[in-house]
Order: sequence, then structure tokens, then C-alpha cells
Amino acid sequence: MIKFLDLQKINLAHQQAIEARMLKTFRSGWYLLGEEVKQFEHNLSAYIGSKHTIGVANGLDALRLIFKAYIELGVMQPGDEVIVPANTYIASVLAITDNNLVPVFVEPDADTFNIDITKIEAAMSGKCKAVMLVHLYGQAIFSDTLKAMSQKYNFKIIEDNAQAIGVTHNGIKTGNLGDAAGFSFYPGKNLGALGDGGAVTTNDDGLAKAIRALANYGSETKYVNQYKGLNSRLDEIQAAVLDEKLKHLDIENERRREIATYYSQHITNPLIVLPKVPVDTAEHVWHLFVIRTAERDRLQQYLTENSIQTLIHYPIPLYKQEAYIEYAHLSFPITEAIHNEVLSLPISPVLTPDEVEKIVEVLNKYL
Ligand SMILES: *Cc1c(COP(=O)(O)O)cnc(C)c1O
Repeated sequence: MIKFLDLQKINLAHQQAIEARMLKTFRSGWYLLGEEVKQFEHNLSAYIGSKHTIGVANGLDALRLIFKAYIELGVMQPGDEVIVPANTYIASVLAITDNNLVPVFVEPDADTFNIDITKIEAAMSGKCKAVMLVHLYGQAIFSDTLKAMSQKYNFKIIEDNAQAIGVTHNGIKTGNLGDAAGFSFYPGKNLGALGDGGAVTTNDDGLAKAIRALANYGSETKYVNQYKGLNSRLDEIQAAVLDEKLKHLDIENERRREIATYYSQHITNPLIVLPKVPVDTAEHVWHLFVIRTAERDRLQQYLTENSIQTLIHYPIPLYKQEAYIEYAHLSFPITEAIHNEVLSLPISPVLTPDEVEKIVEVLNKYL
């Protein structure tokens, strides 16, 4: 069986270095808010180009904390609107509704799966205080027009960078394009911890300060609480592991690009619609390689029978989930077509050339 993602193999590639860092942290006797987190934050800031990085417990919290901080700082108020792509993972929207903000869904572009920026202005009301850009599947989405619009209408650009760490847009890393960004280090992400982890990046001093406090009980000084905060901290052990793995991220993302290019050049089955490789290859880090096909479930079944594991990102639009029953009446045709047709092929830095070739061969024989 070719696994969708072989996490064991991904992490064993750096076994010695990771074990050494974990052991060092174990022996240090210091497990939260220490030197490992500080060093990882410093190195991630340098990598992204952002002034601040705040390590937090997971990607959802990273996004939740950005909105929570904006509310505490008086930049946003409960009831304000946030524009978000209709086809994103539910976490993007949970971060909005958890803060009593109102998501306004916008259709994606069918070619890139990313929010259609040309449709944002029409969706914008006077209550819109933010646009959340989700760099979905690992592809950057940004435009100078949107940036200009954010100044004209006075809204924040927030990046959900959970899937796109390492990608650049016109030479600038995602996570440094907007006002603040949330990262996830869920084990399966391109930079994955051995458990949960997340981070916020921003160049805004005040926002960074508020988020750091909010993530630690709303406190800057121990037992002095300025806000009603959360407990959302990145562990020292996870930070040590991430700091070690960050050194290899660019090489691993490059391997993903090679596989994506190989798939794009060799999968020739007319029943399969391939994702477009961007002209500037740096704009995509291929967290997922997502194809489209009319009879998706039949193709998935066929691949399973041929020992190739695939996943669907995502089978149900978030506004059709039971959790969001209040949005059940909404309808977004492009989003729904995507959810019905997408299938994610295996892609990872440890997928071997033989495996890639086999996947191509099996796909090209599908009738
Ligand atoms: C993974 C992911 C998140 C949430 O990250 P967690 O670390 O699992 O909380 C948010 N948004 C997107 C687009 C994701 O893929």
C-alpha cells in the first residue's frame, strides 16, 4: 500500500537530530515558555521575514487569538464581518465564529481553489473588518489590489497559513503578506510537530503583545491578568522538534515541487483534471496535490484497489456541516462542485520515485 502520508518515514529522516533535541529539553527540566520556544520563534521570524512570532498550542488557536486580540484592542467588535473562502477547512471559520464575528463566504477560483479576489468587493459591507486569505493546499493567494482595498475600506488582511509554510508571493513569504497570520504544526502539515503546535506571525507590535498575553491567561506578568485569556502555549519539546525540522523545510518543499511537476507532466488521463502548476513555482509548496474528476468516489475506490491511499479535502462544505446549521440555506455552486470532485493524491518529501511512477501508471490506466 502506498500511504497517503508516511509520517513515521518523514520524521525518521531526521531521527538523530530530533531525538537529541528532545532529550536535551527533557533533561533541562524546563517545559514551557523557555529557551526552545524563544529560539524557534526567533528562527521562524527570520525565515518568514516577520518582526514577531508567537508560538501557540495549535493552528486553530493561532487564528482565534488574532481575532481575540483585535477585539481586545478595539479594532474589531462582536458582530463585525470577516470575509473568508467558502471552500476552506472549518478551522478558518471556527476562529471567526468563536469570537462572535460573522463569516461572509466568498467563492473560490475554480482553477486555483483559492478565494476569488475579484468577488470580494461585492461581498463587502460596512461591517467588514477583515478578509481571511487561506493559502489552500499550499498555494499563495494575494494581490496588490486587495492590499489597496484594505487601506481604502480599512480592513485587516489575515492569512491562514496552515497549509503553505515556505511559499512566497513575489518574493515575500506567506505569513508576511497581510496584517497577521496563523500557522499550524499539526503532524501532517509541511512543517509538522510530534503532536499539536501553532504560531502567529505579525509586524504589529501592539497586536503581538496582546496575543502573547492572551495565549498565556491574558497575563504579561505572572499573576497579573490584563485580559480574559486562554491557555494556548507551544511546548518546549515541540518547539525543539520544529526548530530542528525547520532547517530541512525548503529542501522538503522542493521535493514536493518535483513530485507535483512529475505528476503534471505524466498524468495524461483525460478523465482527470490536474491542478495548474503556477508559472512562478515558488508560489506553491504542494501541501496537497488535488485533482478533480467527475466520478470521484469511483476513482478513489479504483486507487484503493490498486493499493494507493487517497484522501478528500474536503468532502462536505463547512456551511453544510451540522455545526453550522445556521448556514445550511447557503449555496455556492463552485465550492460545491469542488467538494464533489476533488481527490488528494499522495505527495510528500519521502514518496519515492518508484511510488510516484506507480501512481502515474495506475491513474493513466483508469477508464
Ligand atoms: C490544519 C489547518 C488549520 C488548523 O490547524 P490545527 O493545528 O489543526 O488547529 C487551520 N486552517 C487550515 C486551512 C488548516 O489546514
